[in-house]
Amino acid sequence: LESICTSFRELSDDKHQTLRLDHEALPSRLSVDAALLEQAIKNLLDNAIKYTPEGGTVAVEARVVERTLTIDVSDDGPGIPLEHQQRIFERFYRVDSARSRAVGGTGLGLAIVKHAAALHGGQVVLESRPGAGTRFSLRIPLEEWR
Ligand code: ATP
Ligand code: MG
Repeated sequence: LESICTSFRELSDDKHQTLRLDHEALPSRLSVDAALLEQAIKNLLDNAIKYTPEGGTVAVEARVVERTLTIDVSDDGPGIPLEHQQRIFERFYRVDSARSRAVGGTGLGLAIVKHAAALHGGQVVLESRPGAGTRFSLRIPLEEWR
């Protein structure tokens, strides 16, 4: 998590954003597909920075609660309208084509996040409201993955 955040520091600094990482009480070893999980976290972080305006705040919080690894990536950006919240996990789906085109992307990032969660028997929980920011919560039950 620290190296992922370090690798995004340049992007967030360029936008004068605050990038916070908070990971308390994580086990030193986890049985997960580390490469896939890393890609998923990077996709969430990339979105948070990309879609949050200059000067905003992006936070990564990781913890294990009741044998579930929870990684939250939140931002105080524009939020995602309710009518798009189901569809953004589909491949190639982007919310506002004009605005999204301006930032660039393929629409694959969240499909990969969903796949990564599913492969671990977990889920991605989205909480977002227009004007009130966005939080994606990646939840991986530690005993179920094999
Ligand atoms: P790619 O990730 O392939 O480069 P992308 O970012 O457009 O392209 P996704 O990561 O799948 O694709 O995201 C889908 C859409 O969901 C985005 O185009 C954007 O409209 C919306 N979105 C995702 N994350 C956020 C966020 N944190 N705040 C606001 N909108 C978001
Ligand atoms: Mg993306």
